[in-house]
Amino acid sequence: MFEKLKKSKKFDLLMDLKKNGIFDKSVLNAIEIIDRSLFVDENLKQKSNLNIALPIDCGQTISQPLVVAHMTQSLNLNNKLRVLEVGTGSGYQSLILSKLSRFVYTVERYSSLKKKAEMLLKELGVKNVFFKHADGGLGWNEQSPFDRIIVTANAPEIPNKLVEQLVNDGIMIIPVGDDYNQQILKKVVKKGNKILVENLMQVRFVPLIEGKLNK
Ligand code: SAH
Repeated sequence: MFEKLKKSKKFDLLMDLKKNGIFDKSVLNAIEIIDRSLFVDENLKQKSNLNIALPIDCGQTISQPLVVAHMTQSLNLNNKLRVLEVGTGSGYQSLILSKLSRFVYTVERYSSLKKKAEMLLKELGVKNVFFKHADGGLGWNEQSPFDRIIVTANAPEIPNKLVEQLVNDGIMIIPVGDDYNQQILKKVVKKGNKILVENLMQVRFVPLIEGKLNK
């Protein structure tokens, strides 16, 4: 069993993550047990254990595993927490969050992506993820406040609406930048009516876009 894993691409991926600052065992374990090939088209399945972003429907992407791991590790999750994810996409990050937290509320602006991810996670027997087709830049007011917020699309600035929906001492991880080449992943901690902001790493995400689409 171990020999098999050792020779696999998944083993190489996990080594790569460890070499690049991922030390949280629960995060590494989630990446080990979740089959990323379920979230991409047939012709990309053999690339699913490589440490690269991959295209999904609607011109969107499933993020690079190292970035998924860094964002998840920085959220400092435990099984009591409620998490809001903005940008469901394929549902891969949602599934990772579902293993490490109590409830996941995920919002996607494309109805087709929302439906596909929802169906897949249902097939996998996941019961603690709730889906919404909406503009996630507005959060999910009815379910707020959240202990954690993760935004998986690049915002021009930290959205106030999301900070408002965070509990005190809550953490939000979000890429912020002016364009595709100038994005910094930020860790935002809410302290009363102030926020503390820490820069984590340079990243490249698809843009956070206002409104929702019925396709
Ligand atoms: N977490 C995803 C990454 C998807 S890429 C995964 O693991 O696959 C980012 C996603 O954010 C895209 O699906 C895009 O449609 C969505 N998105 C962009 N702007 C949004 C918005 N305002 N509200 C909700 N989703 C948004």
